[in-house]
Amino acid sequence: RAKESGRGCLRTYEPGMEMVMQQRRELERDLRMALALGEFALHYQPVVDMARDRITSFEALLRWKSPTRGQVPPADFIPFAEEVGLMPEIGDWVLRTACREAAGWPEPVKVSVNLSTTQFRLPDLVHRVTAALEETGLGADRLELEVTETAMIDDVQGAAAILGELRRLGIQIAMDDFGTGYSSLSFLRNLPFTRIKIDRSFVKDLGTKPEAAAIVRAVTGLCDSLGVSATAEGVETEGQVAMLQAEGCPEVQGYFISRPCPAAEVADWIAAFASSRRDEPGNRALP
Ligand code: C2E
Ligand code: MG
Ligand code: MG
Ligand code: MG
Repeated sequence: RAKESGRGCLRTYEPGMEMVMQQRRELERDLRMALALGEFALHYQPVVDMARDRITSFEALLRWKSPTRGQVPPADFIPFAEEVGLMPEIGDWVLRTACREAAGWPEPVKVSVNLSTTQFRLPDLVHRVTAALEETGLGADRLELEVTETAMIDDVQGAAAILGELRRLGIQIAMDDFGTGYSSLSFLRNLPFTRIKIDRSFVKDLGTKPEAAAIVRAVTGLCDSLGVSATAEGVETEGQVAMLQAEGCPEVQGYFISRPCPAAEVADWIAAFASSRRDEPGNRALP
């Protein structure tokens, strides 16, 4: 049996159905333990408006440090957690933790929280969000929720109703990874987004494929006329910042600005950003 012969054997032959099931049970058990034992943490990555020289928000990104598995990337456990029904609980933890940590940041810096598809479909989603705000004292206008097209594709009308309710509470709504899914224009027309996050695949192609620049220009133009903010994701170089600015998208997020950092470092990052602005000759007035 795989369990008796130890982990090392798992890679030496094709895993059979039973072993796959066994591994899944272990992962599920470990995820429940992670929640109970506090193995999750949030890292935060800033979004900066290069034109106004201002921090827009920090996106909360889930990190799992498992004592047996090491640092597990979200892509390796979030889809599974969705499948086995653990995402509502993990998502609640993310919401509460992000709101609590952001409540200590200087205004008007916002926090952006990713919502998974199953979380978005929970009938009591709005209640879960307002509970997190009430519990932590974070103002609704300082919370932005990021949703993907996949979460809304099946029921655009239902999604519009939920997003409308969240917007009326003062919460901001971003469409994440724009351009990777179905990205229909009717989404932009029918859903009350306050921000579009242009997927990093477009940013990556900016220097080499003219279509990428054309798409960024068109999307930011559309956002401008709809009164929606646009943010480019995955910005890694100064050249990309310049091209994005030329295409009308000065709000950027990516390794060029900062990698996601632990919660304890956010305040220092904000302070360093403010002081670098003061040192710059001819900078704009502080907000
Ligand atoms: P996302 O929401 O699109 O987050 C952006 C991802 O791109 C993050 O990966 C971030 O670390 C990475 N990234 C940021 N800047 C750069 C860059 O310049 N270059 C490159 N190559 N990558 C960059 P991460 O943290 O591994 O998260 C992956 C995905 O997992 C997220 O994509 C999001 O869909 C999901 N996720 C993360 N945290 C949560 C969470 O708390 N709840 C839910 N439901 N999903 C989450
Ligand atoms: Mg996101
Ligand atoms: Mg994204
Ligand atoms: Mg992305």
